Amino acid sequence: MSDERIKAPRGTFDVLGEQAAIRTALEDRARSILEGAGYERIETPVLEATELFARGVGSSTDIVQKEMYTLLDGGGRSLTLRPEGTAPVCRAYVEHGMHKRAQPVKLWYLSSFFRYERAQSGRYRQFWQVGAEALGSEDPAVDAESIVLLGTLLEEMGVREIRLRLSSLGGGESRERYRERLQAHLRANAGSLSAEVRERIELNPLRAFDSAHEGTIAVMRDAPRLLDELDADDAEHFAAVCQLLDRAGLAFEVDTTLVRGLDYYTRTVFEFTSDALGAQSGVGGGGRYDGLVQQLGGPATAGMGWAAGIERILLAGSPPPAGGHALDLYVGLADVGEDGSCPPAKTAAFGVLSEARSAGLRAVMEMAGRSLKGQLGQANRLGARYVALVGEGETVLKDMQDGGQETLATEKVVHAALRGLRELA
Ligand code: AMP
Repeated sequence: MSDERIKAPRGTFDVLGEQAAIRTALEDRARSILEGAGYERIETPVLEATELFARGVGSSTDIVQKEMYTLLDGGGRSLTLRPEGTAPVCRAYVEHGMHKRAQPVKLWYLSSFFRYERAQSGRYRQFWQVGAEALGSEDPAVDAESIVLLGTLLEEMGVREIRLRLSSLGGGESRERYRERLQAHLRANAGSLSAEVRERIELNPLRAFDSAHEGTIAVMRDAPRLLDELDADDAEHFAAVCQLLDRAGLAFEVDTTLVRGLDYYTRTVFEFTSDALGAQSGVGGGGRYDGLVQQLGGPATAGMGWAAGIERILLAGSPPPAGGHALDLYVGLADVGEDGSCPPAKTAAFGVLSEARSAGLRAVMEMAGRSLKGQLGQANRLGARYVALVGEGETVLKDMQDGGQETLATEKVVHAALRGLRELA
């Protein structure tokens, strides 16, 4: 047997202490912003049928080709740890007949996702995304609202040096015509392209815009742009989205080279980046996916949504300062008893703890046999406003904020702490 220490797998991490608190704050902000705009929480399973992503995300994408964690379960079914959230949400929309509800159906999630990627700062193999999807309406106001909501979240989380890039990929015939023209351009310049882009001319020519390869970048400079070739409906839709974003006061740049790594996008696509992040500058993005629900076997349904990486938001943001005290009352013991013993004062202290919690206070009790000094130190570390040093009949209540203290009957302690906290509020 080996006694070598077992570590978390590469590209994964534990969420501890202060980080957990910051994430909770982010989740609270997201909930407030999205539920305030009519989005309902949804959570889908971590495991989905592999087919969902092959069909939904697209078999030519990096995600499906090389980044999925896929396994066979005991019954021989191919299952995949979800690499993204949009396809699962669309599956759930169909499975639960949500197309029969008033449209658009607006759903949000905060979940972990899995991609076998090269792990580095800002890029992990298990990461968290907050996402929002609005299904069942083509209205450009849905697009604009969705983008504004992510902008608000990033701003409230203090994400620095944000830029918003926006484009439209059109749809239907104009997209198909464009694809052929782009393929012709790529084929004509095949000698200057990276091997990877060359191999994908047939399968996924749009991704050539994402390449960091110098020769490819030069070829793409003169490539035809989809935005110039939109049909009238798509152009009108895009103009409306731009107009609404202007009205909302959200600055954006139209970027004709913006394509996203998933196949399902139609019409609007957008991405928020932060220059504070370096190489992995994408904080969040998304777009419209009007064909996806149908592709997954549901009725023809429009869709618009985004996902933003929690770790990237935290890397590029400055979390709001934690206000006030983390704890209302630290219940200590005036006489430190023998370890494991239960002198009457400990019973009294446990009573104070229960009473404090019933009154809605955030309270913690001494449970490690610390000295008086040790108890005060611990109360301080936990950010307690009050410390009660409970004796059998009498208790010393110490105000950690102004250093004052009073001695009172033990049964009056919670009342006194409550009164003090109300004065503070
Ligand atoms: P995507 O689903 O690829 O459009 O990604 C949306 C957002 O999720 C990105 O802008 C990142 O913030 C985040 N993200 C994607 N992949 C990773 C990853 N491997 N590690 C951390 N964050 C990621």
